[in-house]
This record gives sequence, C-alpha cells and structure tokens, in this order.
Amino acid sequence: MGKAHFGLIGLGVMGENLVLNAERNGYSSVVYNRTYAKTEDFLAGRGAGKDIVGAATLEEFVGALERPRRILMMVKAGQPVDDTIAAISPYLEEGDLLIDGGNSLYTDTERRVAELESQSFGYIGMGVSGGAKGALEGPSMMPGGTKAAYDAIEPLVRKMAAQVNDGPCVTYIGPGGAGHFVKTVHNGIEYAIEQVLAEAYDLMKRVGGMNGDQMADVLAGWNDTEELASFLVEITEVCLRTKDPETGGDLVEAIVDAAGQKGTGLWTVVSALEMGVPVPTIYAALNARVLSSLRPERLSASALIPAPPAHSFSLGSPADGMGPLRDACIAACIVSYGQGMALLQEASKLHNYNLNFSSIGQIWKGGCIIRARLLQRIQNAYGANASLPNLMLDPWFADQINRRLPGLRQVVAGAALAGIPVPCLSSTLDYIDSYRSGRLPQNLVQAMRDCFGSHTYERVDKAGSFHTEWLD
Ligand code: NAP
Repeated sequence: MGKAHFGLIGLGVMGENLVLNAERNGYSSVVYNRTYAKTEDFLAGRGAGKDIVGAATLEEFVGALERPRRILMMVKAGQPVDDTIAAISPYLEEGDLLIDGGNSLYTDTERRVAELESQSFGYIGMGVSGGAKGALEGPSMMPGGTKAAYDAIEPLVRKMAAQVNDGPCVTYIGPGGAGHFVKTVHNGIEYAIEQVLAEAYDLMKRVGGMNGDQMADVLAGWNDTEELASFLVEITEVCLRTKDPETGGDLVEAIVDAAGQKGTGLWTVVSALEMGVPVPTIYAALNARVLSSLRPERLSASALIPAPPAHSFSLGSPADGMGPLRDACIAACIVSYGQGMALLQEASKLHNYNLNFSSIGQIWKGGCIIRARLLQRIQNAYGANASLPNLMLDPWFADQINRRLPGLRQVVAGAALAGIPVPCLSSTLDYIDSYRSGRLPQNLVQAMRDCFGSHTYERVDKAGSFHTEWLD
C-alpha cells in the first residue's frame, strides 16, 4: 500500500470527523491517538471500509505518510499540544508540516510557529469551527502561519471546508497566531449571541408567559429574516421545541442553569482589555456564564434580596414576531459582531496580521457556529471600507441600529423595572449610547484624577496640558 496523503493525531470529537472529511475528499489517511484503544475502536467503527489506517506509535504514524507530511493535530489545547510536538518532532523531516486545529491560545501559536519554522518544519495554527457535524460535512477554517506553509495545505483545506456561494470557508488568515486569534474572537462573538438568545428566552418566558413551542415559533420567524437568520437561532428553536422524554415538558426547563466558560471567551476579553478595545457585550456574556455558575450563592441571595413588584411591559406580540424583542436582539447581534471585528482591527495593527476583514466575513458565512445571513452585509461593509473602525459606522448597519434602538430601549428599560437581568442587551444599549455620544462624562474623571494625583488634563478650548490646585 502507498503512503497516506494526510495524518491526523487525536481521535476526539473533532479529529474523528475531520479525518472522515479528508478521506471523503480523496485524501488517504493515517490516524494516531495517544490511547491506542480509541484508534482501534474508530477503525472498527466509523473508520471501517475507508481509506484510513491506524498507527500504534508516532514513529509508525510518521513513516506511513507521504512527504512532505501534512499532519493535523486535534488534541486538547495547552500542554498536550506541546507534548505532541515534542514527541513527534524527532521523526519529522525538513518541509514536513504540522497543523494545530485545536483552540490554542494565539500567543502559544506564535511561539510554536517560530520554534518549528526555525527547525525547517512548517507550522500552521488553524482555528476550526463547526462542531462535530461541521467537522464532518465542512467546517469554517482559519489557518495562520507562514504563507508558504498555508500554500502547502491549501488544496486540502479548500476541499474540506464548508462551501458557500462565493467559495470555500477557508482562507489564509495571516502570520504567526493570526488564525487562532481570529478563531478566539469568533468564539467571543459566539458567547455573546448565545447569551442574547438566552436573555430573549428568559424574557419571553417570564414576561410573555410563553412555553417552549410558542417561543420556538417566534425563533422560526426570526430565522426567516435577513438580520437574524443564523445557525444559532436555528438551534435555539430546536432546543426550545425539544421535549423531556421523562416528563413530557420542555427539556430546557430540566437543565441546570449554570454554564461554564472555556479558554476562548476569556482570551477574547483579556485580549480586548489589553488592546484597549471595548467589547462590553462579549464581556457581559462571559460574566453571565461565570455568575450563573455561582448557583448556591444565587439561591441564598434570592431569599435575601427579593424581586421588585411585578412590572409588565410589552415585548411585542408573537403575531408580529415580538417586534421590540426582535429588534433588541438584532441590535445586540450586530454589536457583538461589531465588537469582535473592532478587536480584530486592533490586533491586526498590533501584530501586523494584515487581516482581510471582508474575507473573514466570507469564511464565517458557512460551516461555523456564528454563521449567519448578516455576514454577507459584514463582508460588504469591509469590502467597501477595509479600515472601517466599527460596523456601526457603515451606512447599512447605522440604519439598522437606528431602526432597532427604540425596541432595545423598551426591552432594557422594562427588564430593569421588572428585575430581570439582561446583561448583553443592557451592555449593548450602553455601548451604543456611549459610542454615539459626542461628549461623555470622562471630563469629570480627568478632573478627579488631576485633583488627587496631579495627572493634568487637556482643555476643550486650547491646546496643552493643565493642572489646577483643586483642594486649596
Ligand atoms: P478534546 O476532548 O479536546 O481532546 C481529545 C483528544 O486530545 C484525544 O484524542 C486525547 O487523547 C487527546 N489528548 C488529550 N491530552 C493529551 C496529551 N497530553 N497528549 C496527547 N494527546 C492528548 O477533543 P475535541 O473536542 O475533539 O477537541 C480537540 C481540539 O479542538 C480542542 O482544542 C478543542 O478545544 C478544539 N475544538 C473543539 C470543538 C468541539 O466542538 N468539540 C470545536 C472546535 C474546536 P486520549 O484519547 O488519549 O485521551
């Protein structure tokens, strides 16, 4: 038998599906997993009858691959990636190429690209989004590293990726950790949109008194609109409609209300804080998950701090698609993408990633978790102005924000009076109101800083740096 075209390390949820995807696209494959029993199970199960062989050791794995070798690692992010690189490196030869398809921290990828390239190996840090189904049928892929390394895998990844009307959902992202950074921000946006939809559900249930099927019907309508049609709205409808086989009630009501947060959401927020880019809607989503996990504390507090008196307000009617609530969600989704793109703009400048934002919009249109019809508009906006600082400055998006703001205000104000937390919706409103304000109260902050610490301030009417003896 000839040598295999493609190698996969790590037969987890993603690895298993990605190798089946590669094989379906004509790439004979060899697989390796730290625990060999998993390799045997895979080859006897989903891998049976396919052009896929298994290797019990990394030496055997490397020996079974044609040169230059193309090896995709789909192992847990962090130390396991370094361990895998250390274990396989002795068997690699000049020109061989390692791809890390996991959710690695982009600064780890920067380091690994430099180390591996200095040993004459290619190294690609590639964000992959789409979950198990996407990995099998076509994910969105965000590869970064040297352009030469990308060129060596381009035919493979273009075949494996999701396909949309204007091409495959993969493109060269940029040097170093650019691919993993873009994937990190993708996940930050994902956190925000999931939280926005969770807030909409909470309001429909608690204010509108609606059940799962009624809410799902609203979501189905939203999924027919240009502004909200998306994978996340689609699966929210499915989740709300699904019944608990044990009780017959809505399954979602049987699920504990505590969500975890993994690396990428946190890294998005930390990077944004470090780079000085405001991402409050994304941050609110992260905090909402962290707060939700304090369940015992929340239960204690609920006995000590009661809800305000009942307050009813209108979310709109199901017949009109819950107009104000829908508008609030549209504004929050637009702003979530906008904050993510603004962060990418800054990272691109800081790290010389030279990101192409229109292309990023294009490769997120299919395969990935945040795929949405709105991404065509995002692609258009950056196609028209590559250095757009914020989506809200694009005419189409500015018009959307203007049209959706009354609904957002109505919903946030009503939720505040009813004592229902809507962290992403309210952060979105604050963000928009701050961004559209020609004058903010930070003049007083500057006065206070000068008062206690002689930090000086600038004046609106003349140039220079000024200090006042405020306390005399
Ligand atoms: P996972 O549970 O994150 O990782 C499982 C794989 O990692 C197994 O093959 C496991 O081998 C291997 N592994 C763990 N520690 C190792 C070590 N120290 N040395 C060598 N191998 C080690 O699986 P996954 O969900 O498929 O995710 C793989 C990567 O893709 C992760 O970075 C994840 O964040 C990312 N990702 C996941 C999704 C998703 O929807 N699941 C989506 C996008 C990206 P053993 O079998 O021997 O334990």
